Amino acid sequence: MTGIRSYNRRVLVTGGAGFLGSHLCERLIARGDEVVCVDNYFTGSRRNIAHLLGNPNFETIRHDVTFPLYVEVDQIFNLACPASPVHYQHDPVQTTKTSVHGAINMLGLAKRLNARILQASTSEVYGDPAIHPQPEEYWGNVNPIGPRSCYDEGKRCAETLFFDYHRQHNLPIKVMRIFNTYGPRMHPNDGRVVSNFIMQALKGEPITVYGDGSQTRSFCYVDDLIEGMIRLMDSPAEVTGPINIGNPGEFTMLELAEHVVALTGSRSTIEHRPLPQDDPKQRRPDITKAKSLLEWEPTIPLRDGLERTIHYFRSHFVD
Ligand code: NAD
Ligand code: UDP
Ligand code: UDP
Repeated sequence: MTGIRSYNRRVLVTGGAGFLGSHLCERLIARGDEVVCVDNYFTGSRRNIAHLLGNPNFETIRHDVTFPLYVEVDQIFNLACPASPVHYQHDPVQTTKTSVHGAINMLGLAKRLNARILQASTSEVYGDPAIHPQPEEYWGNVNPIGPRSCYDEGKRCAETLFFDYHRQHNLPIKVMRIFNTYGPRMHPNDGRVVSNFIMQALKGEPITVYGDGSQTRSFCYVDDLIEGMIRLMDSPAEVTGPINIGNPGEFTMLELAEHVVALTGSRSTIEHRPLPQDDPKQRRPDITKAKSLLEWEPTIPLRDGLERTIHYFRSHFVD
């Protein structure tokens, strides 16, 4: 693969036109990698990667990871999968296929190339957790037949496949459990809580808090998350994960709504809506492992991250 050109590392990013994927592509190019971005544009958009399209180190392929893919790369970041409950429940069978068939195809590709492969797993593997905060050793509390199961069980099965390819074929793997992440390039109609609240506040519409708003989440700013992802990929081979990457700061949805209203200076009021089925009541990462193995911890507090995200939504979708 060295050919006659000077050698750059070639990296495949599936889901590269999505929220996290586009930030990852940008960071990889900035450090000198060649990036192959694979996406079927189900929830991602070309706008997210428009600024990279003219770069000679960036290439895109419109492709659905549930089908085989033959390319030559040195590393694979497997991010392809809708992440918002609204989108992953829209076509739940396709969601499971994306996680499971997508993982099999990308693992098959990695096996043929002996390439290092990282899986974007999720805190959803812990379900509605009975242990708080969640360490990686916790096996979770997941409903196998509910509306969130296509995502939760799909991601759990993908983790199983990663560890079986590792044990059976000695494949170098990295499994990253991502906790709620937010920032610029979230889709404005994505349905996730941060984008919903910001768009509602900027438009002066009611802020839709599901249930009584006492459920908690821990929000990580995208730049911190991508730093953790790259550190995990570059970590020694014996560090396979699973490893939690997220911000341990924990907030209720009512607190989040109040922050967003204050930071936008909005006159929006809070309106309660029914709590979706199987909505986890609490979520906070235990990041002891990330701190010790990757020397990583988040640096951007919620207030700063929200300000940057509000600025993005205001300038792109409201002004
Ligand atoms: P996103 O929806 O913005 O990005 C997902 C990308 O995958 C999109 O560009 C979409 O078009 C693409 N995609 C979906 N199905 C595909 C398929 N079959 N073939 C090819 N491409 C496909 O979501 P995101 O927030 O950027 O999430 C990226 C990854 O990180 C996902 O795997 C998600 O499960 C995981 N994750 C994200 C969060 C978070 O808070 N953002 C939390 C936990 C896990
Ligand atoms: N695969 C792929 N690209 C490759 C190699 C394999 O998409 O470069 C797919 C292939 O279609 C197969 C899957 O990955 O279905 C799993 O591959 P593996 O070699 O593990 O299994 P097998 O081919 O023996 O079923
Ligand atoms: N939520 C809310 N209002 C919204 C969207 C979401 O109160 O407009 C709540 C949702 O019920 C959940 C939390 O915010 O308790 C996080 O939801 P999100 O869809 O962002 O991600 P999840 O962590 O549930 O996958």
